[in-house]
Amino acid sequence: MPELPEIEAHAERLTETFAGRTLAAFRPLSFTALKTASPMPDDAVGRAVDGVGRRGKYLTLRLGDLSFIVHLMQGGRLEPDPKESARPRGGLARWIFDEGPALLLTEAGKERRAGVWVVQGDPNAQEPLAGLGPDAGQLELPSLQDVLEAHSMRLHGLMRDQRAVAGIGRRLANEICHRAHLSPFANASKLGPDEQARLLDAIHACIDESLAFERGRDRMSSSKERPGAVHHRVGEPCPVCDDTIRSVEYASYTVAYCPRCQTGGRVLADNTTSRFLK
Ligand SMILES: [Zn+2]
Repeated sequence: MPELPEIEAHAERLTETFAGRTLAAFRPLSFTALKTASPMPDDAVGRAVDGVGRRGKYLTLRLGDLSFIVHLMQGGRLEPDPKESARPRGGLARWIFDEGPALLLTEAGKERRAGVWVVQGDPNAQEPLAGLGPDAGQLELPSLQDVLEAHSMRLHGLMRDQRAVAGIGRRLANEICHRAHLSPFANASKLGPDEQARLLDAIHACIDESLAFERGRDRMSSSKERPGAVHHRVGEPCPVCDDTIRSVEYASYTVAYCPRCQTGGRVLADNTTSRFLK
C-alpha cells in the first residue's frame, strides 16, 4: 500500500498537472466509489482546483471550501486520463475538466475498498480524516512521546495504527524499527528516552529517504521498487550487520527484522509457520 512518502510525492505531481483546472464534471464509475451523500460532488463543478494535498495516506483535492478526499488502499491509482475510455479497467471515478486530461481513480483487484469522500469546510476536521493521529512527517519528540506512552502495545502495530500516527504502513513500520535498532515487538509505552529519540530520528530518516526516491520518479513506485533494508528482504543479509533478515508472518502482512540489529540476536517465533525455528 502506498504510504506517506508515495502519497506526498504523488500529491505534488497531481498539483503540477491539475492545479488551476476548472472542474466540468465528476462521474462515479462504480456504486462503491462515493462514500458520502452530502455535499454533492456536482457542487464543485465550475470551481478551479487549488491543489492536491495529503493527510496520512489520503489525498485531498481542494476546490475552494469543497474537498474530494481519496484513499487508494492497496491497489488504487489516481492518474491523468487523457483517453477517457467508456469503461476503464478497474474504474471507480473520473473528474473531467474544462481543459486538459481528466483524472481517473482505478483500483486493481476485486476488493473495491478505495474510495472518494466529498466534504465542505476544513477536511481535517471531518471523517475520514478527523480521527487520524498526528502526521508521521510532523512528529516531534513530545508528540511522539505522547503517542508511545499512551499505548501499551507492540511498536510495529502502533506505528501502523492510523489513529495513533498517520501515514506509516507495513513497509515503513518494518524499516523504521530496523533503522531505530528496536524490536518490532517492543512495548511502545516502555521505551526509554534514548529509544524514543532513536525512533523519532528513524521515522524522519525513513520518510525523507523514501520521499526523495519517490520525487525522482514520473509515476508512483510499486511496492517492490521502494528502498529498504528489511522489507521484501527476508533471507537476505542485513545491510548494516550482515545477519540474515528474518520474518514473522501474519495472514495479511510480514514483520521483517534483523535479529542482530533489533532483538539482541534472538530469532522470534514465527507464529504461523515457525519455519525459522526448525
Ligand atoms: Zn542487522
